[in-house]
Amino acid sequence: MKTLKNHYGWILLFAVVISAAAQQKDNRAESWTVIRAGALIDGKSDQPRRDQVVIVRGNRIESVSAAATAKIPPGATVIDLSKATLLPGLIDSHTHIFLQGEDPAHGGYDANILNAPLALRAARATVSVRRALEQGFTTLRDVETEGAGYGDVGIKQAIEQGYIPGPRLFISTRAISTTGGYPLEGYAPELDMPKGAQIVDGPVEARKAAREQLDHGADWIKVYMTHRSWVGKNGELVSQPTLTVEELRAIVDETHGWGKKVACHVYGGIGLRRALDGGCDSIEHGLDLDDAAISQMLKQGTWYVPTISVYYTDWAAADTPAGQRDRLRASVHEQSFKKALKAGVKIAFGTDMGGIPWSEPIAQEFSRMVELGMPPMGAIQSATSRAAVMLDMEGKIGVVAPGAFADIIAVGGDPLRDIKVLENVQFVMKDGTVFKNESKNESSSRP
Ligand SMILES: [Zn+2]
Repeated sequence: MKTLKNHYGWILLFAVVISAAAQQKDNRAESWTVIRAGALIDGKSDQPRRDQVVIVRGNRIESVSAAATAKIPPGATVIDLSKATLLPGLIDSHTHIFLQGEDPAHGGYDANILNAPLALRAARATVSVRRALEQGFTTLRDVETEGAGYGDVGIKQAIEQGYIPGPRLFISTRAISTTGGYPLEGYAPELDMPKGAQIVDGPVEARKAAREQLDHGADWIKVYMTHRSWVGKNGELVSQPTLTVEELRAIVDETHGWGKKVACHVYGGIGLRRALDGGCDSIEHGLDLDDAAISQMLKQGTWYVPTISVYYTDWAAADTPAGQRDRLRASVHEQSFKKALKAGVKIAFGTDMGGIPWSEPIAQEFSRMVELGMPPMGAIQSATSRAAVMLDMEGKIGVVAPGAFADIIAVGGDPLRDIKVLENVQFVMKDGTVFKNESKNESSSRP
């Protein structure tokens, strides 16, 4: 009897908690915010629209209309961005929040793993996600923790539970490569060094690793299909392949069964062929895409996340083999990007931040894309509505339109004239909450 009574007590308490939570949710759903925009790039349309009003209810966009005809709900908070250009929150589809640069002068990649305690890495990842949000990136696809295990699961939870500010995260946990296919390396063979990715050999181990990572919360599986690269006999870029087609197929089959996708780090050559034959959903970097690869990507609907900027960082001296390799990587990459763009391959914006220190502007990648021939609107869409399609979030993020989550940013100038203005984001709203407003004519008010 006593037990039963206790049960009633718990049920009552539970009901009170539930209804309090529901009440809070209702209050939020009833809050109205009105944003006046001088210009709106909605993430999907080919042309911007002038003098628009975006009405946000709770965490969703309720309506978008011309200022002249907009119906302002009574009691709404008004944010005046009538001198700014409004855009959807940006999406970076290739980041590493647990990586803090690979500058050889600071110990390179290895220092990230060898010198930093896990708590320090988590603290720095907390700063990385905050920096991304400050720069208008309201969503990241983070493609592995570089030896920090399932740390991204915790950071994602900390953001979702409101402990720390940060973007929506799509995480891939540990990533997968093969023996001989990932650092740390170059140490005495007697030492059992930690690796920056989960190492597998054979389809059974490959499938098991994917299962483990998916079980622990991976939204995507990240695999390395090439590792070392060097300049070949004929001056070409050569890349060492890692996973076999059989190993990759086991991973892709498993991951697709969970309704999720596989992102493949790959440069070119044998590894690229295996990546496409094995059914990768996105090609990361893709430095050396030949015509066969491009036509296979078109046929299979494979995404391309080029990450151009990072290949201009940390070059070795020009007269060394590594230095020549570094320069060749950048030059073949440019050609691959131009060919893919011309052919109509699906391109999503990605930076490899983490490989680039988080102190640098994330939006620098836009300038690289535009310099190589991508129209500014195409570059913006690759970081908004296009990326949202890749992430299976079409209509929910990457667009300023009714029904979408209220992830909205603003810049002072016109990014279609000068793409660099995206490096200076003045206003950031994520999920209906204003995170930052440095707009000059800010005048939030209640009419
Ligand atoms: Zn990367």
